[in-house]
Order: sequence, then structure tokens, then C-alpha cells
Amino acid sequence: VIVAGVGVRALDDAGALSRFASGLMLVSWPVLLLTGVRRFFPRSRFIAPASVDLAVLGVPLSALIVATLWDPQAEGVRVSLLQAGAGLSLVYTAFLLWHLPERRRSPALRALVLLLVLSALPRLARLAHGVVNLDAQGALALMTGRDWLVISLLLSAVLVMLLCVALNHERAVQELSDSHDRLRVLADIDMLTAVPNRRHFQDLAERMLAQAREPVAVLLFDIDHFKQINDQHGHAAGDRALRLVARHARDALRAHDVLGRLGGDEFVAMMPATSVKAAMAGARRIALRVHTASVEDGLAPIGLSLGVVSAQPGESLSQVLVRADAALYEAKRQGRRRAVLAVGESERPVFAASEPLGLDPLPAPVPSAAR
Ligand code: GH3
Ligand code: MG
Repeated sequence: VIVAGVGVRALDDAGALSRFASGLMLVSWPVLLLTGVRRFFPRSRFIAPASVDLAVLGVPLSALIVATLWDPQAEGVRVSLLQAGAGLSLVYTAFLLWHLPERRRSPALRALVLLLVLSALPRLARLAHGVVNLDAQGALALMTGRDWLVISLLLSAVLVMLLCVALNHERAVQELSDSHDRLRVLADIDMLTAVPNRRHFQDLAERMLAQAREPVAVLLFDIDHFKQINDQHGHAAGDRALRLVARHARDALRAHDVLGRLGGDEFVAMMPATSVKAAMAGARRIALRVHTASVEDGLAPIGLSLGVVSAQPGESLSQVLVRADAALYEAKRQGRRRAVLAVGESERPVFAASEPLGLDPLPAPVPSAAR
């Protein structure tokens, strides 16, 4: 549009109609650009609605039409109106783009605003020239001369195109990085329970053990008689129970503890710099929250068995998990709904404490019709 506007204007025998068409094009390009930017950021909140764009374009255009019809020879008035209109639409477009939230992360958008403001300056200067009628030989006239204006317009056209390409490029890079993040989440997070999956948990836990200077408490836990929930209430209820356990275990832990789902109904929590006493208290907290939440949710009351161990700095995750597994097995063997603490060697652990989780007697299950 800019190039066409400049071309029509450059015609030697440009009549009133072609001068008008050229004016129309040179006033409207910033608003066309704005229309494109509105489509490019469809979910962004612009500070003014699209109808205002038309009004901004409409005011100088109407004035231009009236001036052309009134006196086709009054070139001075027409040029001043044209400059005013072009300046107004450039400043307005720059103003809207500046207030887009995307501006903060988009150098191309900021550059576009700068370009629009710079493009507005000669127009506003020329308008000022028309109004105060400075000496035609003066510096201002030189700066706002016709050649300079044409060059600046063509330069604007090229730069606007480059910046639009840059905006597209920024969007492509952003989308690539977003989809990379999404892929990471898909690969690392268990989709049912939204906690790290086995592989990701192993990475996090091994890193935690490698960096540990103090003992790390490990809680391995499993839902008691989970198969019955599936069998009696259906697989969807089983899934709800797994989500509930993950959510409430997460809430019962501290921000820097790591929770993972090892598979099926088995979860594990790593608590850095935690004594076995505090770990047993953590086990109680998790079991109580899960039990209470399951009853409140109208699910069958959920009981947990937990194996608790203390990992010493330098110990491998697999050694620690062998000991925790033995403790969990012992908790099941002793009748479930309890936490068992295992110490000593992983191959021959000693069960140093066994604590019933004090959740019996269970409240009566809520009948499904009452849910
Ligand atoms: P125990 O008290 O000894 O732990 O008995 P249990 O019934 O809980 O037995 P187990 O831990 O072996 O049960 C695991 C069951 O979990 C078997 C499998 O069908 C079910 N399961 C595994 N993954 C999922 C899942 O993603 N959703 C549902 N709903 N069930 C699952
Ligand atoms: Mg189980």
C-alpha cells in the first residue's frame, strides 16, 4: 500500500483523483498494519476496540474528501490534512501496540512502535511547517522535503515488512519452546495423578541423594486393597482414588520434598534433611489426610501402608528403595494401615518401629446413592 501510494503520487500528471487515492493509501497503511496485528494477536487485549481504528482513519479521510470537493486546487489544505491524518494514524497505531502485553517479550513489536513514531515525526513536522509557515529555505523544509518524505516512506515499507517477518519468527520460536515444554511435561509427569512418573522421580531422587549432606527420609507407600476399589466401584473410581492420594500426599509434604508415582497404586516421597521421627510424623500426616479426604469425597475410605527409611548421604537410590520395599512389605504383613521403619542393611533390614496409623474404626462408607 505504501509503495502504491508513493507510486501514484510520483506520477507527473497526477490529477486530483490520483492525488486523493495516493493520500488515502498513505493515511491508511498504519491502520491496515494495526488490523493485521490484531489478527496476529487474536487473544490479546487491545486498549481500544477495532471500531476506534475506523474512526481514527475516518476523521482525516472525511476531511480530505470535503477539502477535495470544496476546492480541488487548495493543495496546501489537502497536504496539511493528509499529514495530520497520517501522523494521527501512526501515533494511534504506535500507542495501541505499545500497550500490548506482548510488548515486554517482543523486541520486534517494540521496534515496530519505534518505527511508527519515527515515521510520524516528519509528517507532524510537515504539518507544523504548514501551520506556522516557516521559511521554505529553512532546515525544517529541507527535512520535510518531498524526496525525503518519499525515501522515508519507502524505508518504512521495507522495515515494516522486515519487522512483520521478525514477529512471525518470534512467534515460531515461542511455539517451538512451548511445545518443547509440553513434550517435557508429557515425558516427565504422570498424566493421571500429575506427579513425576517413575523415570523422572528417579532422576530427581538421585540428584537429591547426590547433593545430600544430611539423611534423606524416604516414604514408600501403597494403597491398601486397591484392587477392591477397582472391583467394587469401577476403574474410574480407582483413578479418582489415585488422584486423591497423589493430591493429598503432595499437600501433606513440604515444598522441597519430592513425590513420585512408581506405578499402579505405589507412590514414593523423598524428604531431604529429615529425621526418622519427622518422617514417621510425615507418614501419619499423609495417611490421615488421604483417609479423611477419601471419606469426604464419598469414595471408599482409603488406607495406606508405608515403608519408612532413612537414606544416608552417598547411598544409591536402588539400595534405599530395596530397604523401603521391605518395610512396606512388612507393613502389609502386619495387617496394613501402618508405617514401618526399616534400618540397617538393605539386604537384611531391621524393622525398628511399626506404628498403626490410628484410623480405625473406619467411618461407615457413604452409600453411592447419597453422593
Ligand atoms: P495391597 O493391599 O496388598 O496393596 O492390595 P492391592 O489390592 O492394593 O493390590 P495391588 O497393590 O497389587 O493392586 C494394584 C492394582 O492397581 C492392580 C491394577 O489393576 C490397579 N491399577 C494399576 N494402575 C491403575 C490405574 O492407573 N488406574 C486404576 N484404576 N487401577 C490401576
Ligand atoms: Mg496396593
